[in-house]
Amino acid sequence: MTQGQQGQQGRPLLNSRLAGFGTTIFAEMSALAARTGSINLGQGFPDTDGPEEIREAAVRALRAGHGNQYPPGPGIPELRNAVADHQKRFYGLTWSPETEVLITTGATEAIAAALLALVEPGDEVIAFEPYYDSYAACIALAGGVRVPLTLRAPAFRPDLDELRALITPRTRLLLLNSPHNPTGAVLTPEELSGIAALAVEHDLLVVTDEVYEHLVFEGAHHPIAALPGMRERTVSISSAGKTYSYTGWKIGWVTADAPLVTAVRSAKQYLTFVSGGPFQYAIAEALQLPDAFFTEFRDSMRRKRDLLAGGLRSAGFQVYEPEGTYFITTDIAPFGEEDAYAFCRALPERCGVAAVPNSVFYDDPEAGRSQVRFTFCKRDEVLESAVERGDGGAGPRPAGAGGRGGPGRPRS
Ligand code: PMP
Ligand code: GLN
Repeated sequence: MTQGQQGQQGRPLLNSRLAGFGTTIFAEMSALAARTGSINLGQGFPDTDGPEEIREAAVRALRAGHGNQYPPGPGIPELRNAVADHQKRFYGLTWSPETEVLITTGATEAIAAALLALVEPGDEVIAFEPYYDSYAACIALAGGVRVPLTLRAPAFRPDLDELRALITPRTRLLLLNSPHNPTGAVLTPEELSGIAALAVEHDLLVVTDEVYEHLVFEGAHHPIAALPGMRERTVSISSAGKTYSYTGWKIGWVTADAPLVTAVRSAKQYLTFVSGGPFQYAIAEALQLPDAFFTEFRDSMRRKRDLLAGGLRSAGFQVYEPEGTYFITTDIAPFGEEDAYAFCRALPERCGVAAVPNSVFYDDPEAGRSQVRFTFCKRDEVLESAVERGDGGAGPRPAGAGGRGGPGRPRS
């Protein structure tokens, strides 16, 4: 059944909090890619697995019976220690593995648990738009009110005066994401200080999604939790999926002051109770990989960014070069088109490549109407072949007309 279908008593089956959140755009565009045999540059998942030794660590754990039965609710001690050590190694932050680290089922569960734990119905949650889709759904599930702060092209910087103006007595928390999906913007130390000062001044909580912490190409990643006055009000979230290229394992974590972790754990225990046992052992090892692993991963993704950005530019897109993440936001205005959703539905037929429309990540329909996101976490030959498919056209082609040949040349 779909969300529009009636259930018993003439009521829609899907409750009003989730109305409008039917199928995620990632699932929709991945299904379209599969159906059309297209190269999938929509949903962000790597097409090569992460380090072999980490996969072997998972196999070893499975065979040894480590984590095959319910692991401890907050996560196995080995992984909580490794998360704490990693935060210390990269950011100088000190967290108690016993009380200030919580292992979750991916960052997705951490976000859900944090919002369900900390938001009362009617509380306002300020989030950057375009936002990652689960933010909107989880704010709705918690009964919160989403208040978007629009990041605008071309630089997608947050306007701190605008942020100040959005804060009301009902504001409960700021939901941050840096490096930012889908725009690739990375908050600067000055922006982080400005946001932190507002959070302290108005006594707000901050939930910060830092899953792309190791994918910063320009500048560096700075956790907001490290700033003065932030430790006691910040829930930091990360995940193994992006850094180690095992998105299917769904191991994520929260680091925060003990009372915040206790609150988030209260929600987490009724969502999943515990998270993927044997994978926790493997990720505990992954977090201890030498610095060279993280540097090489970032450098190889930077190369892929440059490869895809160049290809998209030569195909005629306006490219907003990302400072971080493995996504590139583009604009389709040079093709004389403006409806990103229609464009993405047609793109597989037009040139055999799938992408994701950023427009669905905005409340303001105009702000992202013509933005399209491509991921570059794919093998070089796949990116090259996507670029070739996009580079052959002269003029926009309607679906099915003239075979594969690119989204079209820009109109001058
Ligand atoms: N936050 C952002 C910004 C993401 O892009 C993603 C996608 N992986 C997630 C959270 C979810 O992470 P996970 O797969 O660990 O649940
Ligand atoms: N985070 C990935 C993306 O933004 C995919 C996540 C998902 O499919 N829910 O593409």
